[in-house]
Amino acid sequence: MERTLSIIKPDGVQRGLTGNIVQRFESAGIRIVGMKRVCLSKKEAEAFYAVHKERPFFDSLTSYMSSGPVVVMVLEGPNVIQRNRDIMGATNPAQAAPGTIRKDYGLDVEKNTVHGSDAPETAAKEIAFFFSELELMR
Ligand code: UDP
Ligand code: MG
Repeated sequence: MERTLSIIKPDGVQRGLTGNIVQRFESAGIRIVGMKRVCLSKKEAEAFYAVHKERPFFDSLTSYMSSGPVVVMVLEGPNVIQRNRDIMGATNPAQAAPGTIRKDYGLDVEKNTVHGSDAPETAAKEIAFFFSELELMR
């Protein structure tokens, strides 16, 4: 059993895609064990994406991620880190496979509708960024 962090980015929340995206996860048998809507400050977005701080898109990305509410979720299931990445599609919606969230809804390489952790270590870090242990206890 594995957990991963998913974020519905501002472009997804703003366009009312939360229900559709949640349904894709649930239809795939993935359990949502934590979920909340939050507004990130610029500083919080910078902290979350700190791994990208040297990249040319860092300032634009963190401004965008703090431009409106996001929905953060903890997904649980076997191999859910990779399965979520498969459901999301490639970073650039133009290169994402048919039927993926980013292909169906992504606006451009920045406003690509969803985030998903990429490995067990980043998943643990990203989940702890948004959720306390108590919130995820069952
Ligand atoms: N991003 C961007 N320009 C790029 C690459 C990435 O604006 O050239 C943004 C995009 O929103 C992406 C995020 O930065 O989702 C994190 O980049 P990463 O390479 O980790 O892609 P992801 O893991 O989200 O597919
Ligand atoms: Mg990434």
